[in-house]
Amino acid sequence: MGYDKILPEIIRKNDNKILLVVLDGIGGFPHIITGKTELETAKKPNLDRLAEEGTCGTLIPILKGITPGSGPGHVGLFGYDPIETLIGRGTLECLGIGIDLSKEDVAIRGNFATIDEKNIVTDRRAGRISTEENMKLISILSEKIKEISGVKIYLQTVKEHRCAIVLKGAGLYPHITENDPQKEGLPLKPLEALNTNSEKTTLILKEFEKQVIEVLKTLDTKAKAILLRGISQLPEIPTFEEKYKLNAVCIAAYPMYKGISRLLGMDIAEGCETVEDEFEMLLELYSKYDFFFLHIKKTDSYGEDGNFQAKVKTIEDVDSKIWQLKKMKFESLAITGDHSTPSMLKGHSWHPVPLILKSPNSIPDDIK
Ligand code: ZN
Repeated sequence: MGYDKILPEIIRKNDNKILLVVLDGIGGFPHIITGKTELETAKKPNLDRLAEEGTCGTLIPILKGITPGSGPGHVGLFGYDPIETLIGRGTLECLGIGIDLSKEDVAIRGNFATIDEKNIVTDRRAGRISTEENMKLISILSEKIKEISGVKIYLQTVKEHRCAIVLKGAGLYPHITENDPQKEGLPLKPLEALNTNSEKTTLILKEFEKQVIEVLKTLDTKAKAILLRGISQLPEIPTFEEKYKLNAVCIAAYPMYKGISRLLGMDIAEGCETVEDEFEMLLELYSKYDFFFLHIKKTDSYGEDGNFQAKVKTIEDVDSKIWQLKKMKFESLAITGDHSTPSMLKGHSWHPVPLILKSPNSIPDDIK
């Protein structure tokens, strides 16, 4: 991105304010009966007015035909190259459950798996054990494996068979192959360092893997090992302040979005649960920041559940709160999503994402 070279030179700090509203997974798909998308179905007079006054279009979060995860989708929305700026899967998993990572920590996604006595993986998800069982196992493992060679080990339940593992200590590096054979019927793969820096961390992980198997052997559970995946560290990326000279704040209810924002050096507004809380927080913080990132999660969650009506209701809920923007002046307002999550497809999709851009100086188009 050529912008990165010239922006720091030409940006002048001013008093203008920017608001980015992300309706996660807002892009939809026509309903099989009505032929209308979630946005077309929702009654949303306020958003319609903003669309009429502003400039509209669609955006492609990563590349044409690519279905983004929310992590890369947001990295792109914040103006970082989502392909160059890779946030490792382990790091994303940890940010997603609200673990505060420091630069030296190594973050890993774990899958409880079933293995036989020859270390052959017979079930990569350990029969999808319940979250409750996962929590019990994590509490036993955390009690028994606290530290290896002076490096502290933290374990946390994510959901069902998934957990997160963080190594905390000096001189840790993440360039290590995974032990996940990717297929059942194959043995655990040996963890291997991909560079000399990562050799120490590899030895620690091998010991961790061994101790986990020993502890799980003694317990009545299908989980007999942990597949270690997405071994990674926080990426080195310029903060929002460095990149844009903007004093930014994140207003979100879900941990992952706060985690990514924290990684970019934004302040995090805590304590928001509902859309209403978020708009009230925006009003409260208005005088303190230049850039506001306001994130709405439910449009995506209901899209993933395939709940068309609930996604429509969430859009209507946002619409009923968005009039509050009248109380504030934004030089630039963008309302968009990080990817599409059509309820009809029950998941993220590659479809382009609708966008409204509005500024006192914007030239309206024909789109209403
Ligand atoms: Zn998303």
